[in-house]
Amino acid sequence: MGLWRKIMRTGRVAEPAPARVPGEAPSKAAELAGSVQIRHVDAGSCNGCEVEISSAFGPVYDAERYGARMVASPRHADALLVTGPVTRNMEMALRRAYDAVPEPRLVIALGDCARDCGVFAGAYGVAGAVSDVVPVDVEVPGCPPEPEAIVAAVRRLTGR
Ligand code: SF4
Repeated sequence: MGLWRKIMRTGRVAEPAPARVPGEAPSKAAELAGSVQIRHVDAGSCNGCEVEISSAFGPVYDAERYGARMVASPRHADALLVTGPVTRNMEMALRRAYDAVPEPRLVIALGDCARDCGVFAGAYGVAGAVSDVVPVDVEVPGCPPEPEAIVAAVRRLTGR
């Protein structure tokens, strides 16, 4: 009962829903009908982007209210959310994860490292940016991107 009372006292903490950021959605996103299941792949991140993803799907930014949900397997996913530069050790794993996502599949490259290797460009263990390994549909700049930017990218896919 103590926990229940605490929940009731705290109430809803989610920020009011901001207006949608205008931006062209990938054409494949229309086939997903406003609901996108996302599998996160850390291809070599420093973990900064993961902290912001946690915030974006946490109670304050609440990305799920726009129709996005994290899932545990690429076989259950519509989209991959990829962070970090693609390290040599993760290159094959990322290709396999991409192949496991059923069509129509989408890829979000999240953070500067995913877009162009960022601060890790040229490092000996880096195979390349995400687009060097799998096709990318949406890019989210930033190091790391703020939760608002992650939510905005997700809303481009769900259209909500
Ligand atoms: S973009 Fe920045 S926060 Fe994200 S993985 Fe790269 S260095 Fe880390």
